[in-house]
Amino acid sequence: MKTARDLVDFVNASPTPYHCVAEAARRLEAQGFTRVQETDAYGFEAEARRYCVRGDGSLIAWRGGRRAPVDAGFRLVGAHTDSPNLRLKPRPAKSKEGYLLYDVDVYGGVLLATWTDRDLALAGRVMVDVDGRLERHLVRLDAPLARVTNLAIHMDREVNDKGLVLNKHQHLGPIVGLSADGDPRAALYARLAEAVGTSPERIRGHDLCLFDAQPATLGGQDDAFVFAARLDNQAMCHAALTALQVAQAGEQTAVIALFDHEEVGSGTARGADGTFLEDVLLHLAGGAEARSRAIARSALISADMAHAVHPHHPDLHDREHMPRLNAGPVIKTNENQRYATDGETSALFRALCLDAGVGFQEFVNRPDLACGTTIGPISASRLGVRTVDVGNPMLSMHSIREMGGSRDPAAMTTVMAAFLGGAR
Ligand SMILES: [Zn+2]
Repeated sequence: MKTARDLVDFVNASPTPYHCVAEAARRLEAQGFTRVQETDAYGFEAEARRYCVRGDGSLIAWRGGRRAPVDAGFRLVGAHTDSPNLRLKPRPAKSKEGYLLYDVDVYGGVLLATWTDRDLALAGRVMVDVDGRLERHLVRLDAPLARVTNLAIHMDREVNDKGLVLNKHQHLGPIVGLSADGDPRAALYARLAEAVGTSPERIRGHDLCLFDAQPATLGGQDDAFVFAARLDNQAMCHAALTALQVAQAGEQTAVIALFDHEEVGSGTARGADGTFLEDVLLHLAGGAEARSRAIARSALISADMAHAVHPHHPDLHDREHMPRLNAGPVIKTNENQRYATDGETSALFRALCLDAGVGFQEFVNRPDLACGTTIGPISASRLGVRTVDVGNPMLSMHSIREMGGSRDPAAMTTVMAAFLGGAR
């Protein structure tokens, strides 16, 4: 339960991928990790604790092994920092029918109906012109600021039978206030400027996300559950981070890679289909040939949340591969390689669980239904590394408020820590 409580704190500190990376960096520095810049020349140092950030949304951290990567390989854990949400457009506000609205775009596969009638706050990055230089600032406005408002049922009598249908262009702009004369952006820019200590006319750009103002919490009978936004996939970022901090020093170099942009396909400069991890491993191995030899000795746990069985929809799962909450990590297998798991890598993960006394579960998507995917197959094909796709079970994936078990975070962390420490 201690790990689940710490996960709640981590999620509450991380309303956006940028804040997730900043919180991860803060925790790493408290444990003696130091930051290297991508512009630095750096290489392998035995037992050195380092981390590197790309684009404010992706982070790779490592602890050098006792032996060089070419001789001992890497132990890698991957996860993603981003979650589906609503984001402000470049022209972020407009007036309509006497209301002031934010104008929003949809990031990733948002479960849209869950964003209605929630108290929404705002966080992200603001770019500010300071004496001819562009500075990036994190910003977080915790006050309930905006609301995607439902119609009264009297005006939509069929909604309970037909479901809530929201057009992404027409129906999502949240109400922020009542419109006044002048530029509808003025109040927002004044607030952002105040938050980052500048003046509104110096703001040159922003990446701003709406988030649920209600904090994450443990809940349910006996606190069996975690109720939180962004469990997919901050729960696995938290497990990877905690595992790296507690793992014993091994011969292999332990690496965690937390990527942005998984929810939109990973094909970006800082996504899992970009060069970030390859670049870091090239530095650590000390050259392309050494890296490919190191990779041949390496393995990757790709960690992304998994679908627990839903009590009202058990038929959507394969009966023999039906994960439950608080029953341990889920190994995800798909013969069409939507997951990178194979018999060899799943055996490694099962062996790690058995060694640690941690229960594990199996997930296979019903072959007649479309299967999701994650960073596992992308990292596996970019690096050529043996990979297993795993995740903790959860419900309400991509809802504004998701639900997981409160005992699973510690179980996954234990297994990852054993792996990063070189077990097996
Ligand atoms: Zn995910």
